[in-house]
Amino acid sequence: MKIFHLSAECYPVAKVGGLGDVVGALPKYLNQMGHEASVVMPFYDRKFTRENEFDSVFRGSTLLGKKRYEFEVLKEKTDILGFELFMIKAPGLLDRENVYSYPDETEQFVFFQLAFLDWIYWSQQKPDVIHCHDHHSGLIPFLIYHSDLYKRLANTPTVLTIHNGQYHGAFSWDKSYYLPEIDQWQTGLLDWRGGINPLASAVKCAWRFSTVSPSYLHELTIQSNGLEYLFYTEYKKGVGIINGIDTQVWDPATDPMLTKGYTVKTVDAGKKKNKEALCERFGISSDKPLFSFIGRLVDEKGADLLPAIIRASLDEHNQELNFLILGSGDTEVQHALLELKEQYPQCCAVYIGYNEELAHQVYAGADFLLMPSRVEPCGLNQLYSLRYGTVPIVRNTGGLKDSIIDFGEEGGYGIKFNNIRAEEAVYAVSRAYELYKNTPHLKKIRQIMMALDFSWDKSAKEYVNLYESLKL
Ligand code: ADP
Repeated sequence: MKIFHLSAECYPVAKVGGLGDVVGALPKYLNQMGHEASVVMPFYDRKFTRENEFDSVFRGSTLLGKKRYEFEVLKEKTDILGFELFMIKAPGLLDRENVYSYPDETEQFVFFQLAFLDWIYWSQQKPDVIHCHDHHSGLIPFLIYHSDLYKRLANTPTVLTIHNGQYHGAFSWDKSYYLPEIDQWQTGLLDWRGGINPLASAVKCAWRFSTVSPSYLHELTIQSNGLEYLFYTEYKKGVGIINGIDTQVWDPATDPMLTKGYTVKTVDAGKKKNKEALCERFGISSDKPLFSFIGRLVDEKGADLLPAIIRASLDEHNQELNFLILGSGDTEVQHALLELKEQYPQCCAVYIGYNEELAHQVYAGADFLLMPSRVEPCGLNQLYSLRYGTVPIVRNTGGLKDSIIDFGEEGGYGIKFNNIRAEEAVYAVSRAYELYKNTPHLKKIRQIMMALDFSWDKSAKEYVNLYESLKL
């Protein structure tokens, strides 16, 4: 099958979070299974695009409202990523350094989608499936099925995967003139609560949609930033497929970013070395248990609770534990964390920013990884931490619920708590502290975690089943 994945992110080209990890891995695994999967994304001005060579495969121009923009489709020359990477270059509109947070994000992603459609239409491409990821490509199903401009593509199956249902990419009907001529009888398929809502439109128009874990599919009917009723009515079109991890990139035995590689057999000694290097870098003692957090410092991740969790845990255990936080986001949370670092320099390390290499070192060097998430569509951090022998402490929600079994249960390996309250997380930290002191038990749990298989092989097969279900 020939599958186009459309995404705003793709590791290692441009990654902000889990979307990038998934789009950088799933197509590779689909290709290993004999399919022809490629990725199409905007051409950003980033390290990857500056350091790699591209062939020009198409040139065109597309109207965005009254303004016409030139664009070029570039293909990475070597297929180094394990799939064909196509990038749409539009000077002045898509060639920016960051992926998100520009005031003209609507124009950026509407144009990306129109240029993609023009390219595949005029170059006579015939994909078996167009796979859209999140709202950035959410208008594609509607445009294919309800705009005369792309009539020849109207039988092409489309799938939407929702990595984060909180963001919809909604914009006002005042900007509807950005879209090409559409069937005016069908405009309701673009609308949600009086605006154009790309995510809602894709849920309505794509042949099927998936979420990145089974529990998240259900949770979207309860909490999805205003789309709850839509998910309730379209529930049967949905399927939950838990993400895998790219075991070539995330392998503690071969990971070049670690101080020392290790396997399941050498995990205790290997983690010790990585922990020592990490603690030395941040000026904290490696003799205490190390609790870490990696991620966006936003409410979704429960980051606002971190200062309270850390403070209460340090008080409760006489500062006999250390915390290391890597992330960026809400300025208030950043300030509160930096204040804690000032107050407890011996126990608290904070790195504000995005640092891929450091993230690998933290997964390897920490003893525990905290994820007090309010919402977690899948969560990859806990899967990486399992692979690196680091015990995840998670709130029982979304993909965390689906991937972690509490060590108090038969065959369990992680630590879970139910409610989004600092007290519950502090209690979970105390359980972790007790576990840390019980060395044989901790060793056993590390063995269990590292033997788990969360590779893409299984999940990629589920995507293939989903594609097969679309066959005409
Ligand atoms: P999200 O909701 O942010 O997509 P996921 O758990 O699905 O959350 O994926 C997060 C990914 O981003 C993981 O690969 C994680 O290691 C990475 N990540 C998040 N924040 C940082 C950071 N500050 N530095 C390095 N990597 C980060």
